[in-house]
Amino acid sequence: MAHDCLFCKIIAGDIPSNKAAETDKILAFHDIAPQAPVHVLVIAKRHTPSVSETPDNAIFADLMGGARDVAKQLNLEDYRIILNNGAEAGQSVFHMHAHILAGRPLLWPPG
Ligand code: AMP
Repeated sequence: MAHDCLFCKIIAGDIPSNKAAETDKILAFHDIAPQAPVHVLVIAKRHTPSVSETPDNAIFADLMGGARDVAKQLNLEDYRIILNNGAEAGQSVFHMHAHILAGRPLLWPPG
């Protein structure tokens, strides 16, 4: 748990979330400002600020495997998984997370 980390507070239950799934390793919840009909965030329970600052690879398996499992539970067939690394890439919460977007055609390349 990191002080002043929004997503750590969500994990702790201090800030409410609309939960989609939970395991001992990850929590998935619906984004508060959805960018698609389905927009779920998957976070590891272990705090790590960003992709580039992650100390070991196991957390990526937890996150990506978790995202795949959540997509399956939500019966998603076509979806996009996004990890923004750094402010210029769009990261605003510095607790590493994967976005799952689905439910509409997704443009490529992204803006
Ligand atoms: P990023 O910009 O990649 O760091 O993604 C952070 C995401 O967290 C954004 O899509 C926000 O809409 C979302 N977000 C911020 N606060 C909350 C919250 N309290 N509950 C759910 N999603 C949130």
